[in-house]
This record gives sequence, C-alpha cells and structure tokens, in this order.
Amino acid sequence: MKGIYFDGTRAVYREDLPMPEPSATESRIRIHYAGICNTDKEILKGYRPDFQGIMGHEFVGVVESSPDPAWIGKRVVGELNAGCGTCIYCRTGREKHCPDRRVIGMDGKDGCFGEYMTLETHLLHQIPAGLSSRQALLTEPLAAALEIPKQVHIDPDSSIAIIGDGRLAYLIASVLHLFGAELTIIGKHPEKLARFEAFGRPVLSTEDTFELVVEASGSPSGLELAGKIVRRQGTIVLKSTYAGKTLVDMSYYAVNEITIKGSRCGPFGPALRLLEKGLVQLPEADFYELKDFEAAFHSGSFKAGFAISPL
Ligand SMILES: [Zn+2]
Ligand SMILES: [Zn+2]
Repeated sequence: MKGIYFDGTRAVYREDLPMPEPSATESRIRIHYAGICNTDKEILKGYRPDFQGIMGHEFVGVVESSPDPAWIGKRVVGELNAGCGTCIYCRTGREKHCPDRRVIGMDGKDGCFGEYMTLETHLLHQIPAGLSSRQALLTEPLAAALEIPKQVHIDPDSSIAIIGDGRLAYLIASVLHLFGAELTIIGKHPEKLARFEAFGRPVLSTEDTFELVVEASGSPSGLELAGKIVRRQGTIVLKSTYAGKTLVDMSYYAVNEITIKGSRCGPFGPALRLLEKGLVQLPEADFYELKDFEAAFHSGSFKAGFAISPL
C-alpha cells in the first residue's frame, strides 16, 4: 500500500506498507481525500517524538469492511481519538481525554495519508448526501472550532478577538461570526487578513481590550499578546499547539482573574450540519499525489491535501 510514513525523524513516501487489518471492533476505510493539518507539520518538527507510523488525521473515505454491515459502502469522516473504553474519561463521554487513547496519525495508531486506514467503528460519521467530499474534508478542523462554544459562553453583545490569520483562525472566525458578535482578527499578514473581511475587523495590531480572546496563531508569542489584550476577569481560549514551551508570568493571570481555557477537538455532528446547510463555507484544499508530499507540506495555499483515490 502507498502512504506517507513518519519514521520518528522525517516523513518518507512508501509503496510497501502492509494493508491495515481491522480489529474486531474496527472498520477498514478506503481513503479518498486527506487534509494536511498544522499538527502534521509540527510532528515533522518534533511535536510527537514517540510517534512512528502513517501520518494524517483529516480524511474522507468509504467504509470497505466493518463489524456493522450497515456501514459498508458509506461515505464517512471520523474522529481521531480512540479511548480504552473502560477508564473514567471513556465512561463519562470524554474519550478524547482517555490517558491510554490512541490518536490516528499521532499516537499509537496509523493515520490517513495512505490508501487504507482502520478506525474504531463508533468514531465514524456518515457524510450527508448533499455535502461534497471536498467540503466534508474540512469537518475535523471545523469541529475543533465548534469546541469553543461548547466550552465558553459566547455573548453576542460582547467584544471578541481572534489572534492568528491562518486556517485555524479562519475556521474559528467562520463559527464565531454566526453569533453576531463583534469580531476583531489580529494577524501578521495583510494578504491573509483580507480573507477575514466577511467575518469582522481584521487588523495588524490593536489598542483595544476584549472580554474573550481566542489564541489561534500557532506560535508561542500569541499567548503573550492574548494576555495583553484580554480584559481583567476575561477569558483566553488556547487553541494553538506547537513543539516547544512558552514562558508566562502566571501571577499576572492570578491578579487579573483571567481564565485560560485549553481547547482541542470538537463535535463532528454540528460541523457536518453547518457544512451541509452552507452556513459555513470554507476554501477547499489544493490536492497533491501522495508521492509529492514534500510539495504538499510546503504549499502556500489555504489548505493542502492528498487526492488518494478521488471520488
Ligand atoms: Zn487537524
Ligand atoms: Zn479510556
């Protein structure tokens, strides 16, 4: 099987990968499209030093075999985190926090940058008939943006800032502007910021302060800026994950009673519904062949992906 394998140091294109064999509870999926996430690029920089295997966690595919025959032939997306099923987190609906979880393309489980992948069947979501595969490929990153209104109250009448002008920030702005709140988007690249005009006020810097600040810059300096522009008793939502550490003066957050909320993967169902109804419309990925993965990883487009077996 063809795929992109991370050997612990670098990514390699291989044609000799074994066909993945599903366990008794897993389905096997033929991958049609896969999306490259910033996390994949961070893995290449050392974000997951213990991981070896096929990369990738954003995909659209068709179920080829499954312990539940109703899934066979269905067009699907799927969640990343496969828990142990027995710990306190798995038993209380928080499988993504299972300490023994396997995460596709990141931790103990092969991902979707290959022709086939296996996944726990309960993590599959069927793609609605009216939604194109290329839009559906954006379900996982959109779900991550939808985690924010699950975690913090979005007051439509208050001021909200998003730090970052990349894909993640774009997805978050796509979701938060639906609440009617006044959005300020703080970025570094005028050409990228121009894409945010439809959602709010894109700026290169600001003197204003905000009740809610979403840090989605993908870099350690974003948290520092968030601390400066968040109001006292305000909330910072941390979306960025990166290799490396950041130094902050925690007393400042204590004295000013600032809440810091970590935020990761989110709900797939609402993401699929927003995409199906056209309430969120996202720029589609530029597609590459697996063997051209280096060009794909360095692509400057909004999003790059792989057309592995295009539908
Ligand atoms: Zn991702
Ligand atoms: Zn568990």
